[in-house]
Amino acid sequence: MMIDSKTQIENGLKCGICRNQIGINVRIYQEGLNFGVVCPTCHENNSKEDIELMANMFLAFGGYFGILKKKRLSLVKTLETLINEVPIDNEFPTVGDINVKLLHRVFLHGIIPQQYIAGLEELLET
Ligand SMILES: [Zn+2]
Repeated sequence: MMIDSKTQIENGLKCGICRNQIGINVRIYQEGLNFGVVCPTCHENNSKEDIELMANMFLAFGGYFGILKKKRLSLVKTLETLINEVPIDNEFPTVGDINVKLLHRVFLHGIIPQQYIAGLEELLET
């Protein structure tokens, strides 16, 4: 059976960030020599740099934006968990390692970077 490319795009194209069906309202971003597709919502809610960051994190660590959206996220508890994780290679994680893992978890919970920064600011004020 032959499917024309328009039908294929309308039925099967998913956002590279949140995995929602895109339909015909696709937005394209470029990451180095690669192109990715995102839905209008992800395109409007995130900067180009944030989209690239999220795409790279999901590629490296798995998951997608909002996969854990229904679960509540506590930044403090997540940070405690990450700090207390037993290192696989007996090396303590660096602050950069913990930051990347925390940011990945934030994205899995469907929190956009601006909301994450606001959450950190709120946390520092308490
Ligand atoms: Zn999306």
